[in-house]
Amino acid sequence: MDEKIMQLKKWIEESDNVVFFGGAGVSTESGIPDFRSVDGLYNQKYKYPPETILSHSFFERYPEDYYDFHREKLVIDNVKPNVAHLRLAELEKEGKLKAVVTQNIDGLHQAAGSKKVLELHGSILRAYCSKCRKPYPAELMNKGTGVPRCSCGGVIRPDIVLYEEPLDQDIMTEAIRCIANADVLIIGGTSLAVYPAAGLINYYRGNKLVLVNLSSTPYDNEADLVINEKIGKVFSQI
Ligand code: ZN
Repeated sequence: MDEKIMQLKKWIEESDNVVFFGGAGVSTESGIPDFRSVDGLYNQKYKYPPETILSHSFFERYPEDYYDFHREKLVIDNVKPNVAHLRLAELEKEGKLKAVVTQNIDGLHQAAGSKKVLELHGSILRAYCSKCRKPYPAELMNKGTGVPRCSCGGVIRPDIVLYEEPLDQDIMTEAIRCIANADVLIIGGTSLAVYPAAGLINYYRGNKLVLVNLSSTPYDNEADLVINEKIGKVFSQI
């Protein structure tokens, strides 16, 4: 086994306060495209760029176009948790992992059995009325055609954070608390280039900061351990 993966395994064995912070790279191994990778959504042809379609003002103005994109690009059928999701859920059951903080909106950590999942950007598995906030089953939004509407007339929207919208402050506060108190912080599948990832890492105060990412990140020099491997490969060995 790789020496670095062995080191990570040892730190996890010795700890009961591990926190995992994950980005798109955690889900790509389940077949969900990464918004920012070379083969990701940003390079696919659509009428508008994804960051425009996935914005608050676009949703308000062109809900039909938003929903075309949502159903075609955000909703991926038959995805399953991969070895990283499954191992993280096990580590929580073993009393080692305190929380998963994720930027993903696919609900795969919960599908794997994780209980404490802090979804910074929400989830496409939840929907609510943008006018009266009544919750609705996600199928109504993720399947079918046209713009789903509430009985009050309001447009039903996904419980995700669109561009131009603020993050949920309660979730952010709890993510900061977990990261600040973590013994081992594992950051995986994110290039740490964009907010809020880059900001959250600064709250960590320990000396076991682990970065698992295929390519290098701006935080490599600050990390105690850098593993440039696929998340799945690493988590199948710890
Ligand atoms: Zn309503």
